[in-house]
Amino acid sequence: MKAAPISYRRASTLDEALAAGGETARFLAGGQSLVPMMNLRLTLADIMIDISNLRELRRCAREGDRIFIGAGVTHAMLEDGKIADPSRGYLPHVAGGIAFRSVRNRGTLGGSLAHADPAADWPAALLALGADAVIRGLGGERRLPLAQFQLGLMETALEPGEILLGVSVPVLSCHARWSYQKFCRKSGEFAHSIAAVVCDPARGLAEVVLGAAGDKPFRLERASALLLGDEPPAAPQMALAVDEDVREATGLAVSSYEFHLHRTMALRACARLREHA
Ligand SMILES: Cc1cc2nc3c(=O)[nH]c(=O)nc-3n(C[C@H](O)[C@H](O)[C@H](O)COP(=O)(O)OP(=O)(O)OC[C@H]3O[C@@H](n4cnc5c(N)ncnc54)[C@H](O)[C@@H]3O)c2cc1C
Repeated sequence: MKAAPISYRRASTLDEALAAGGETARFLAGGQSLVPMMNLRLTLADIMIDISNLRELRRCAREGDRIFIGAGVTHAMLEDGKIADPSRGYLPHVAGGIAFRSVRNRGTLGGSLAHADPAADWPAALLALGADAVIRGLGGERRLPLAQFQLGLMETALEPGEILLGVSVPVLSCHARWSYQKFCRKSGEFAHSIAAVVCDPARGLAEVVLGAAGDKPFRLERASALLLGDEPPAAPQMALAVDEDVREATGLAVSSYEFHLHRTMALRACARLREHA
């Protein structure tokens, strides 16, 4: 299959990219999702605006007790530790598990969030980390908690012409614990289930998130609340909470294979929470 005819423009500044954006334009970051979607004619646009060379989108900076990571940072840059890691190894671990090295070399964190594939890694992983999306449009900049960014299947809160600048993530304390469990039948493919857990009571953070289980990642409310308690929750108590959360989030029959897969992944992630030096 070939893409429909389209014009191409390489932006040399963020302002130039914003000025060129609009209803019928698409931003090109790593092209790992956009180009196949265009070749299959699942995405149509009149103009492709290449933002892959914008230095502004690779900016990373400390902002108090958070770190801003630019949307143009590639999975490989995170995997290789080229970005200061605020997450005690969590972000490099997630990055290193995405697809294959060739995809990780070009695919970007911002492209993954903007594409909003329900089975992708960053939407679930960054939701568990308590990230905010930083968005720029012609009218200025705005921030949204990631929970409000992905609205559904490949649908986000980005307005036409807006660019995702990056994410702001909390710097985890030295007592933070995390676990990231991803189930794939073949290595390198999109997940059939993802369970991401980040627990840092010093920062008031305890998030259990399930990905690849619906049209967007879900926060498991009861399980997250249990993790914030003073004592580690007993295994049966956590199992009950996860069962109720997964049933509520997915609507799956408890007898189904998918329900068992997701509950197993969530329980495994909670059980394997550990501190990372
Ligand atoms: C074989 C293969 C296997 C893969 N496996 C996985 C996997 O296991 N897990 C996983 O998470 N991902 C996987 N991916 C997807 C990969 O991670 C992509 O990098 C990602 O989905 C899109 O990133 P990109 O930079 O290539 O974005 P692009 O393809 O360039 O863009 C994707 C969409 O986001 C928009 N966009 C991009 N950047 C911005 C921005 N800054 N602001 C606003 N809109 C923007 C584009 O207009 C487009 O609509 C896989 C891809 C391939 C080809």
